[in-house]
Amino acid sequence: MTSFFDRLADGHVLLTDGATGTNFQDMGLPPGVGPEEWVFDAPDRVRELHHRFAEAGSELFLTCSFGASSVRLADGPLAGRAKELNVRAAELAREVVGADGIVGGTMGPTGQLVEPYGPLTRELCQATYAEQAQALGEGGVDVLVLETFFALEEALWAVEGIGTMTDLPLIISFSFDQGTRTMMGISPADVVAAFEPLGVAAIGANCGRSLEDSDIVVGEFLQATSLPVWVKPNAGVPQVVGDTVLYPADPATLAGHIADYARQGARIVGGCCGTTPEHIAAIARRLSR
Ligand SMILES: [Zn+2]
Repeated sequence: MTSFFDRLADGHVLLTDGATGTNFQDMGLPPGVGPEEWVFDAPDRVRELHHRFAEAGSELFLTCSFGASSVRLADGPLAGRAKELNVRAAELAREVVGADGIVGGTMGPTGQLVEPYGPLTRELCQATYAEQAQALGEGGVDVLVLETFFALEEALWAVEGIGTMTDLPLIISFSFDQGTRTMMGISPADVVAAFEPLGVAAIGANCGRSLEDSDIVVGEFLQATSLPVWVKPNAGVPQVVGDTVLYPADPATLAGHIADYARQGARIVGGCCGTTPEHIAAIARRLSR
């Protein structure tokens, strides 16, 4: 098995995958149903999307576990099943991509505000991410990914908890959904200052707002850090048309921005919401695969 770090050697730009949620919605996931429910209820469709990204040229595949922390699951139909869900999500990805694909165990925010603004204490946060990371590791992931974070405390506590449980490489990715700052006012340089000293394997941004904002965010990361920069933007700003949400950036447009990021020095690239296998195939072509 080739390790995550081996694959980053020699300046290789690692191509990740695209969206889970928006592609599942195109595949029939009803509005309001969490993608994680398909890990148990429709595993063939979870495998199918991993397979489509593999055919498009993805090398790193995120598990269907973004919302699978015990805290986030607590009020829904998967309450109490975080451990088995994360193990299974990792296994499903591995079943498709084999030993040569890199499986990234993804973990999103809990959906709770940190104390004193909300109920999320440091101890609870550490424990929920320790549990999720341990289960993803048990399922066989190669690397862990904290993505779409916006609050420094929650992400720092998550890193602390994960560090008690596993030595797997850890990627940290924030969502700058106010443009070039998170909803808490955090900048790329703030993220680098907080997480580079903690020994993370890569750092960067996903989701966010427009591709033009992403251009600025990527530049700020490349300026601020010598770590590998990770970037997985949305396929443009979503537009609601009738009862559907459209992402306006077509494959060529997204691939043009991503190719620029790779030229500037970004090392791990892909797409977030609205990014289809066709977008990933276009990026793969631009990266001359
Ligand atoms: Zn997104």
